[in-house]
Order: sequence, then C-alpha cells, then structure tokens
Amino acid sequence: MKMGRSARPSRWQDGHVNNSPAIDPYKRAEASAALRDDHTIDAWARRFALLSDPNRLRLLFCLHRAPKIAVTDLAAAVGMSDTSVSHALRLLRSNGWVTSRRVGRTVLYSLDDDTIHDMLHQLGATHAGDH
Ligand SMILES: [Zn+2]
Repeated sequence: MKMGRSARPSRWQDGHVNNSPAIDPYKRAEASAALRDDHTIDAWARRFALLSDPNRLRLLFCLHRAPKIAVTDLAAAVGMSDTSVSHALRLLRSNGWVTSRRVGRTVLYSLDDDTIHDMLHQLGATHAGDH
C-alpha cells in the first residue's frame, strides 16, 4: 500500500504513534488536514491562555475603548493596583498586543493587535460613541 498523507500514522502530542486501522480513511485524512497548519493552533492556544485571566480581559476592553491611557487611569477603571496593571501590561506588551508611548512623564498604553481587536468586537466591545 502506498503511504499517502491519509495513511500517515498520527503522532500524538506525547510522542505516541497511532497505527490503528482506519474506520473511515476519508474522515481520518480530513481530521488530520484540519491540523496541518499546527502553528495556528498553537498561536490560538497562546492567545486563549492570555485571555483566560479576567483582569487581563478587562484591561483589553478598556485599552480598546480608551486608547492612549495611563496606568493609573486603567487601574482606577478596573479596580486594580497600579502594580498589578503594570505587570499585566508588561505581559500583554511582550506578546505584541499592547504598545506604550511616553508623553512627558506619563506612559500611555494602547491596544495594538488586529486579531485581538476583532475578537473584542465579537465579545461585545464598543468604541466611544457606539450604541
Ligand atoms: Zn474596535
């Protein structure tokens, strides 16, 4: 039998190789095809990990609605300490979701990721003036 993509034994994440005969080779091939672009799955898993914290999610909603906002104002809006907000912003910035810009003595933060921006709208985020 020729080994095509559909006959490739599937390798589990833990390294286990599954050589069991296919019940439905077409379904098996389609299921494998869904995972061909594996880095997309990993990227989404990383996004969901970052989004899994309610405080970070609150901060993202605030950053979306009020771009160029200072830590102190963000902290007051979400009811967190400046330190906790700064920590969360560092994490979001290191993942490329947030940018910062110094204006005088103040650092202003903005959302800077189109995918997350779109997702926030899916979750109901609005802009000032939206109804
Ligand atoms: Zn928006």
